Amino acid sequence: MRKKVIAGNWKMNMLPNEAIEFITELTPKVKDTKNEVILCVPYTDLFYSLLAVQETNIHIGAQNVFYKESGAYTGEVSPKMLKCINTEYVIIGHSERRQYFAETDETVNLKLKASLNEGLKPIVCVGETLEQREANETEKVITSQVEKALANLTDEEVKNTIIAYEPIWAIGTGKTATSEDANNSIKQIRNKIKELYGEAVSEEVIILYGGSVKPENAKELFSMSDIDGGLVGGASLKVDSFEKIVNFDKE
Ligand code: PEP
Repeated sequence: MRKKVIAGNWKMNMLPNEAIEFITELTPKVKDTKNEVILCVPYTDLFYSLLAVQETNIHIGAQNVFYKESGAYTGEVSPKMLKCINTEYVIIGHSERRQYFAETDETVNLKLKASLNEGLKPIVCVGETLEQREANETEKVITSQVEKALANLTDEEVKNTIIAYEPIWAIGTGKTATSEDANNSIKQIRNKIKELYGEAVSEEVIILYGGSVKPENAKELFSMSDIDGGLVGGASLKVDSFEKIVNFDKE
């Protein structure tokens, strides 16, 4: 049985004092959950957040990483740098990075390999645009993104990779894919992994849904057969809404 994972993506929001306050307030509200709780924070919040989550069940991730170990790459941060301060997770290939910062399937693959080599737990994002969806290209686009992201990985590395299916038209727009649609796309991704790496691997890989997840739709989405939790943007910026999403399975 796959664990449910709820990962917040703060994007370019939250100063260190706000991050500490958020974590302090969130801690007692999620302490009893069996779900994995992750906050992916800006680089400048990492160190403070990592100190604030000590002795809690909250895990911290970064939102990007470069694939080189060191060198003349002004402004970049390596997997080793993230790991040495105990960062656990890292988002790779978010659609905003693909759209604004020229991230490609090839750089996603390089970043994924470099992160796994360093023992980070990657969350790789894939998803189709509205035009691709309307042209009935969703399956082709997302399975191709997954195949290219996972190229040349071992079975073990694939098992250690979380995938987030995030239809681009649903990110930050308030539009959510229906739970059936989201589940269907995630099944297509799982089938692709089965074709490439076998059933045992595909059944272990955690695949999240992202795109306007909120307290009102979390339970329905996360109760679907293939949706293992969510990558949450806007609703992860308020303790109240994020806590409700984490505790979607409590009554
Ligand atoms: C995201 O940033 O990955 C995301 C899904 O954002 P939102 O929840 O705001 O749509």
